[in-house]
Amino acid sequence: MGAIARSPEPAHPNPLTSCAALLEKRCNLASLCYSRSPLSSVPTTPAVRYEPLAAEGCARLGRVQTPHGHFDTPAFMPVGTNGTLKGLVPQLVKQTSSQCVLGNTYHLMLRPGEKTVKALGGLHKFMSWDGPILTDSGGFQVFSLANLNHIDEQGVTFKSHIDGKTIHLTPERSIQVQNDLGADIIMCFDQCPPSTADRAVQELAVDRSLRWAGQCLCAHARPGEQGLFGIVQGGTIPELRQRCARELVAMDFPGYAVGGLAVGEGFEAMMGVLDVTVPLLPASKPRYMMGVGYPKDIVEAVSRGIDMFDCVLPTRNGRTGNAFTSSGQIRLKNAKFAEDCGPIEEGCDCHACLNFSRGAIRHFVMANEMLGPILISLHNVRFYQRLMSDVRSAIGLGRFDEFRQTDPRASLGAPAEHYAEPIQTNDSPTSND
Ligand SMILES: [Zn+2]
Repeated sequence: MGAIARSPEPAHPNPLTSCAALLEKRCNLASLCYSRSPLSSVPTTPAVRYEPLAAEGCARLGRVQTPHGHFDTPAFMPVGTNGTLKGLVPQLVKQTSSQCVLGNTYHLMLRPGEKTVKALGGLHKFMSWDGPILTDSGGFQVFSLANLNHIDEQGVTFKSHIDGKTIHLTPERSIQVQNDLGADIIMCFDQCPPSTADRAVQELAVDRSLRWAGQCLCAHARPGEQGLFGIVQGGTIPELRQRCARELVAMDFPGYAVGGLAVGEGFEAMMGVLDVTVPLLPASKPRYMMGVGYPKDIVEAVSRGIDMFDCVLPTRNGRTGNAFTSSGQIRLKNAKFAEDCGPIEEGCDCHACLNFSRGAIRHFVMANEMLGPILISLHNVRFYQRLMSDVRSAIGLGRFDEFRQTDPRASLGAPAEHYAEPIQTNDSPTSND
């Protein structure tokens, strides 16, 4: 790991710039809050708990307990934007060893609407997924959309990509939607500035995100059933990341995410953010790096103490005919695979590799048969889950550093030019996973 810069606690001349102070003030106002004050009466059994099992350096082997069972960490969570992993029935998703999946608040609130999902039995029933689910706050999507109208202290106004309707999303509204959807882990609504934003913009976004985090805590109506995670923002500016982390930790969330990464800053900068941020996050809580990434990103982030990841890469690349293998991605549309009778990857135990040749899958893709993208998505998700399983085994055996140095997957990063494009779950309103 690189050196960890620990700057002194920044001074806050105005007590209200301290989010904990703001939160206490807000939560003392009964009219603004539910009966629970997050500072004084945290539920005795939190909805989400982290159990450490082993560690090697900063890498951690553990388990996150949720109301819908546990998932083992470090974990990769595939993304089901509209309440489904595109093309994969839940039984197949389970076969990949995925234990926790994502849903997108932005998409589900616009269509079919959170009240409809609730009326249909909640998101677990809706997705036919009885394991843990995480929903994001919708923040990343609204801030990355072109038809964003207005941002102010109250929230964000934007036009729906479905019907052009004007929508106002606030921290309270995001939490209400996530309470209705009913995922096990829900996320604070935060402001996500572009990676190219200057320091002043990043600073404003951090201040606002901290205030909004306090509002999200107060608005959270189901703390005994859903764990609300705080999100550290601050771009690539170490002092901002550290201040944001410290103030969020003071609010005592059941878990913490590092957001605003993999949006064009590059690998070294991304790891630099982890180096200065993760040491400030409590060891007793899960740590989630949002929207990342390539296998190399994941392995390196695990070595810095990250426990949870999500990314659209396995499913999105699968739909375009690109399959992950230990020696890099292969483009199955390539003519050289036309008569290739081998599996996508030798040794893979997924349904696609056990039953179909590269040549057959290539034909399905070329003929626009649904099965082609389905099989490659299935393989790709299993590829990621085999990676995570091997990472966990290596930590448990005290051989993670060796794994990191020698396993070919640990060096599978993005070509440098790929970092010019976002790879997060939410790169466009209509094509997310
Ligand atoms: Zn496979």
